[in-house]
Amino acid sequence: MPNADHNEILFERARAVIPGGVNSPVRAFKAVGGTPRFIRRAEGAYFWDANDKRYIDYIGSWGPMILGHGHPAVVEAVQKAVLEGFSYGAPTEREIELAEAILALVPSMEMVRLVSSGTEAAMSALRLARGATGRKHIIKFEGCYHGHADALLVKAGSGLATFGHPTSAGVPPEVTQHTLVLEYNNIAQLEEAFALHGNDIACLMIEAIAGNMNFVRATPEFAARCRALCTQHGALLVFDEVMSGFRVGLHGAQGVLGITPDLTVLGKVIGGGMPLAAFGGPRAIMEQLAPLGPVYQAGTLSGNPVATACGLATLKEIARPGFYEALSKKTRTLVEGLKAAAAAEGQPFNADSEGGMFGFFLMDELPQNYTTVMTTDNAKFNALFHGLLDRGVYIAPALYEAGFVSAAHSDDDIAATIEAARQIFKALPPR
Ligand SMILES: *Cc1c(COP(=O)(O)O)cnc(C)c1O
Repeated sequence: MPNADHNEILFERARAVIPGGVNSPVRAFKAVGGTPRFIRRAEGAYFWDANDKRYIDYIGSWGPMILGHGHPAVVEAVQKAVLEGFSYGAPTEREIELAEAILALVPSMEMVRLVSSGTEAAMSALRLARGATGRKHIIKFEGCYHGHADALLVKAGSGLATFGHPTSAGVPPEVTQHTLVLEYNNIAQLEEAFALHGNDIACLMIEAIAGNMNFVRATPEFAARCRALCTQHGALLVFDEVMSGFRVGLHGAQGVLGITPDLTVLGKVIGGGMPLAAFGGPRAIMEQLAPLGPVYQAGTLSGNPVATACGLATLKEIARPGFYEALSKKTRTLVEGLKAAAAAEGQPFNADSEGGMFGFFLMDELPQNYTTVMTTDNAKFNALFHGLLDRGVYIAPALYEAGFVSAAHSDDDIAATIEAARQIFKALPPR
């Protein structure tokens, strides 16, 4: 078939056997339209689709590929592990090594439990928080994503005395009736919620540097208020660092903000691209977990020997001196270049980054919450997305997602990306 679009052919085949043709919704390009690219292989900062077209990859599997694809030391570790067996269902020394490596880098954690996905880790941390405090209510923030556990698929109710409504079919209102959804960075609302419900709140869960409403930071004042109110009311502060952990810096968002949470949820980078996640915190809380305590949690593939090999090898590379300095510099070069290109072409634009994570916005000010992020001009974003895609630059196919730079991205990759964006800015209708 000359000129056949192999992505289109695969998409059609996929749709016949997989709902929507994808195994995770954002991959379907529903927000931006067009045909999802089916990826055949990846190397360094690039991946290639079914037509063998090359893209500079700015999603990095939504965060994990911080070293780029196929880093030799990681590949070697995984190859070695595979030859020793895929899974045992019995403990291994490598799980201890990974636990020790994580604890050494995240001082707020004294113990850690390994699981297989961020969803599982966040869900388990929530159960642990409820079990440890004996309380029911939880606080989350609009625009923060903590995986797809029932109690966390919630949007705000009509007032602070009313709790959240499910955002997914199949979640009974009874399951979300203890979840309070607040506006990110809104200190007055946070204080009001604690004043009303403080003694019943088991935990406050937050992405302290959020990557699921594009890239939005908790202000230092807001993060400090979260910490203080949790302490004052005996609620646990849970930092969901599935995305920010080992991504914004070697010590996560808690390191950047200088705030110590009670529980930390990790994922993405700690698996280096393999299914691996974790949650942890102080010994006294973690010892509430089975088999020591009454809070049940388990997993057939938890601490999988191939996944832990991949995670360990990845952590070893990112812990090298200067790693984050170099990565941050690269990401800042990209963000500053995009800002300059937009300014030169008269487009409203702003952008921010921390470590290897960034966000850009087709607006003048950096948004502080989800509602503002969602005022983005959709048509303009889609034009930018498809323009970049045509030019071989793959950014997240939705305006509410963050972007990721890896150690494998070269100065030339960054420069090519900025130039591609400049061409598109030039063609977009001016402000
Ligand atoms: C990705 C993500 C999750 C869910 O992780 P999965 O591995 O996709 O289940 C949870 N929390 C945050 C902050 C995330 O970015």
